[in-house]
Amino acid sequence: MDSKEFRQRGREMVDYIADYFENIEQRRVFPDVQPGYLKELVPSEPPQCPDSWDNIMKDIDKAILPGVTHWQHPHFHAFYPWTQSYPSILADFLVDALSSAGFSWASCPASTELEIAVMDWLANMLGLPEKFHHCRGAGGGVTQNSAGECLIVSMLAARHNALKHLSSIYPNEDAAVLLSKLVIYHSKLAHSCVEKAGMVLLIKTKGLDFDDKHSLRGHTLETAIEDDERKGLYPFFVLATLGTTPVGSFDNIQEIGEVCNRRRIWLHVDAAYAGSSFICPEMRTQMNGIKNVNSLNINLHKWMLMNSESSAIWIDDKKVLIETMAIEPLYLQHHLSENFLSSKKNWSISLCRKFRSLKIWAVIRSYGISGLQRHIRNHCKLAKYFESLMLSDSRFQVIGTVNLGLVCFKLKNNHLTEKLLSTLNSSGKMYLVPAAVNEDFIIRYVICYEKMNERLIEESWNIIRNLASEILNQNYE
Ligand code: PLP
Repeated sequence: MDSKEFRQRGREMVDYIADYFENIEQRRVFPDVQPGYLKELVPSEPPQCPDSWDNIMKDIDKAILPGVTHWQHPHFHAFYPWTQSYPSILADFLVDALSSAGFSWASCPASTELEIAVMDWLANMLGLPEKFHHCRGAGGGVTQNSAGECLIVSMLAARHNALKHLSSIYPNEDAAVLLSKLVIYHSKLAHSCVEKAGMVLLIKTKGLDFDDKHSLRGHTLETAIEDDERKGLYPFFVLATLGTTPVGSFDNIQEIGEVCNRRRIWLHVDAAYAGSSFICPEMRTQMNGIKNVNSLNINLHKWMLMNSESSAIWIDDKKVLIETMAIEPLYLQHHLSENFLSSKKNWSISLCRKFRSLKIWAVIRSYGISGLQRHIRNHCKLAKYFESLMLSDSRFQVIGTVNLGLVCFKLKNNHLTEKLLSTLNSSGKMYLVPAAVNEDFIIRYVICYEKMNERLIEESWNIIRNLASEILNQNYE
């Protein structure tokens, strides 16, 4: 493709994307295909000769779009949002064209410096303490691919500190023996990425009970720590979640932070979804206790209208992270990159990294803080509206507190709730996923669509209650 054709095809693609968004409501949310459907439509061998862009687009329509789950559909209510916005798409378009791998200052000065600037902007917008700001404290923020990666990075830094401490107490002990003493705690409602991180880093992870508000409390943590210390283990890291995946609940970081602070245990907060809501000052009470937190991650692509992957982590002591991760082979050195505090390769597992800060910058500027606040508040308000509709019907039970854009509910027993979920999903009108909380099978209704409104909420409610009536009637007969 030459630049002349690229200009034409680029314009066509922009129209294609705009048409997709304008007409998305007419599609099924979940595709009507079976596993293996693509085998029939895509040859098993790659082509020897060049194919035309027209043919590629025809096959996108014929083979690819029919197999897409439409995460941007108004009735996609599964998982958590995986957002995008026009400014973000446009900025990423340019990033893909520039294709520069900003791992050090010299590899792309603009990418390195803009990332520092936007991470401080975000820290400001979210009301994070000064210790997390590049320009004010000993810490700072950096983007990563995923919340799971953020967690691994903070666990690596904490593990580095813990092993240093243990080897000063047991200088003759083998590193593998010291590693086997380490233990991490989290609520049973924490995302599974903590167990994955433990598997990767060969560290024991323990899920702790939560209270009746689905919150991990300080006394539960302290009891677990004391038990394990008696067994000769070394608790060194706690993961608290603000906005758990199953029910959107908040661990009590005030209490947990006090326990961690007293015992010099690293406290990491996973606020992958809920973190974006702290842009609204009225939501920040959920962050009480943040001063005792060592690191925190947010997926900006979940709720802040930025395309994936835009995960962000802030850490209160960047030197520890860099001491853990820095490697400086000759081929990566440059006389103007000597301040390796700013070299992003020393902040993450992968060396090369996309110019993610450009879309973050573009979205914040295009929406402004007020536009992003409006977006979050709209989702929270509509979730409350959905909850009120549900509470008006005694056949439904709302589980947990509705603070965010998530409403969890069930029918009178697990069997009926499972039946309702499978009927809703196979109708193609809506897509939702379940969660397990204690003995309950619950359905999570998440507001993901940027332009959600009361009409669409009422439409959801009518679909859900009509299908529930059918199921309950069948069950009665
Ligand atoms: N943490 C929470 C609270 C989540 O809800 C999720 C995903 O939904 C994750 C972590 C995992 O995110 P990622 O896919 O970016 O690793």
